[in-house]
Amino acid sequence: MTLADQWRRVRARLHAELGEATFNSWFKQVDLIGVDEGRVMLCVPTRFIRNWIVSHYADRLAKLWQEEDAAFARVDIVVHSDPRAEARPLQEEAPREEQAAAPLPREEVVLSSAVPQGFEDAGVGAPLDPRFTFDAFVVGKSNELAHAAARRVAEATDVTFNPLFLYGGVGLGKTHLMHAIAWEIRKRHPERKVLYLSAEKFMYQFVRALRFKDTMAFKQQFRSVDVLMIDDVQFISGKDSTQEEFFHTFNALIDHNRQVIISADRSPSDLDGIEERIRSRLGWGLAADIHPTDYELRLGILQAKADEMMSRNGPVAIPPGVLEFLAHRIVSNVRELEGALKRVVAYASLVGRPITLDMAQEVLRDLLRSNDRKITIEEIQRRVAEYYNVRLADMLSARRARAVARPRQVAMYLSKQLTTRSLPEIGRKFGGRDHTTVIHAVRKIDELCQVDSGIEEDVDLLRRMLEGGHGAG
Ligand code: ADP
Ligand code: MG
Repeated sequence: MTLADQWRRVRARLHAELGEATFNSWFKQVDLIGVDEGRVMLCVPTRFIRNWIVSHYADRLAKLWQEEDAAFARVDIVVHSDPRAEARPLQEEAPREEQAAAPLPREEVVLSSAVPQGFEDAGVGAPLDPRFTFDAFVVGKSNELAHAAARRVAEATDVTFNPLFLYGGVGLGKTHLMHAIAWEIRKRHPERKVLYLSAEKFMYQFVRALRFKDTMAFKQQFRSVDVLMIDDVQFISGKDSTQEEFFHTFNALIDHNRQVIISADRSPSDLDGIEERIRSRLGWGLAADIHPTDYELRLGILQAKADEMMSRNGPVAIPPGVLEFLAHRIVSNVRELEGALKRVVAYASLVGRPITLDMAQEVLRDLLRSNDRKITIEEIQRRVAEYYNVRLADMLSARRARAVARPRQVAMYLSKQLTTRSLPEIGRKFGGRDHTTVIHAVRKIDELCQVDSGIEEDVDLLRRMLEGGHGAG
């Protein structure tokens, strides 16, 4: 039995225990260097992988080697691309400062010198909203953790949480916090390259690079930044090749001690449609959630926004009762809350009337109703059939003709998005279809929305109508 055979067997057992994907993520690139006085020495290409194996598989790995030969007393892992790395015992984790204090020289990150200049302006990143600063962010119980973590990341000189993963429902301030981090870093360290973009845009860039066979430049662009922020990462669920690329970019940056900040509408472990190995890595740093707002926070935000409006547009008299009313009644999210206030103020200034409670109620009738109401599947079906000019009965029937099949898929998609019904429940309401049909429809429409702006517009319009409370009738 040679050492190579033993190594092969250890690998085979890990493979069997962990499954293909996990094994490939962590162990595929592990090489055996040799054994020295009972020390098995392995090497890996990156520090990130080394740390992950040490913290998750150390015991198992040591045990498997022991079973091969009781004389194998310990297992050490070295990082072969890092000239400073020394063999370190597997059982003890590298101290935190050491991880943070030794960023690799820039040349090692940038894959070649041909990095396009000014790529932020060339449309790779997305512009930052000047209003989304820390000063303008109102802190309450529901967002204090996320806020504190964001501040820490923006102010720290070394990388503490990596990645910082911000998650929470729509309109609760994730994008605001990411922009605030970017502004703050730009202010403190203008020389650092900060790149912010949505996951959709990341995907778009990637697909484009593939099409134009320009993936090298794509990689360089992303891997040469100091801080990378990807917003709404749930958008890459189900997009396998984009996920793969995202994963590599992510690893490369983390390995080189660059700050990565990610947001999503749910926690890393709830990101279905995203591979397990990616999910597990996303949760590796700090995951901070933003909860729905409470009344106090909503009122605080309204006051801050009212002050800000006045500093821009001159004094507007907003009775405190109106702010309280809004804070009570618009509970969906901060974006709507803000929109409601703007609408009331705009209305008052346009018609030249003072703001009162009655007037606010009048102006916001639709919004108030949609904050109260729940959208039903029946309503969605009716609205979609009407929109596409097909008969409701046909849409619910078994017919496969394209003319009804597509509207049906759109209706299923919206049912999934706008109601809390499960996939089987939705399937049943569509003429007793199977839940896999619903999954297929959701995916299909998701995909079509990416490539067909017509469909995207249809879906958007329908969603707006339904959410706006014009769905009845
Ligand atoms: P998300 O990205 O989570 O969907 P956004 O960051 O886009 O939400 O926030 C939606 C709107 O609400 C933005 O205009 C943002 O400025 C505002 N907002 C959200 N949370 C707060 C807060 N705590 N303080 C002030 N404004 C907020
Ligand atoms: Mg956002």
